[in-house]
Amino acid sequence: MAEAQLVVSDGNQKLFPCEVCGRCFATDVLERHGPICIKLFNKKRKPFNSLKQRLQGTDIPTVSKAPQSKAQPMRKSNWRQQHEDFINAIRLAKQCTLALKEGQPLPPPPPPTINPDYIQCPYCMRRFNETAAQRHINFCKNQTSRRVFDSNQMAARLAARAQGKAPASPKK
Ligand SMILES: [Zn+2]
Ligand SMILES: [Zn+2]
Repeated sequence: MAEAQLVVSDGNQKLFPCEVCGRCFATDVLERHGPICIKLFNKKRKPFNSLKQRLQGTDIPTVSKAPQSKAQPMRKSNWRQQHEDFINAIRLAKQCTLALKEGQPLPPPPPPTINPDYIQCPYCMRRFNETAAQRHINFCKNQTSRRVFDSNQMAARLAARAQGKAPASPKK
């Protein structure tokens, strides 16, 4: 694209336009003029640019991040509490089973820790509202006593099923 840059042909001297200001110079003159012209051009633009940047810097509001790590410790302690309750429930269930086996009175249920409005089942330690608790405790009482007495029968039944005497569920 040398033809586009060639604007004026003055004798044996070719003149080229300055990229910055558009004026035409001979090659050797343009070589000296170019850097000066660019420097002048940048000098003119610089204050405008810095002013613009300054305005942008002050005008943009700083966005503060909201704290979001509050839910985590609550969750953790809740899980811990539930885990402790779970372990206590198992321990008490074992005591219950033992008491039932030996015909002794059941150990008292532990003091309520989660929801005092709910009634805790003394057999499985789960909590229910008043209506559900009455139904469940009766059911759970039967289940618990049956489980204790049936543990030997259950093993016998499983052994029988393994030998094919009882109908087994079809395999896929
Ligand atoms: Zn120029
Ligand atoms: Zn229960």
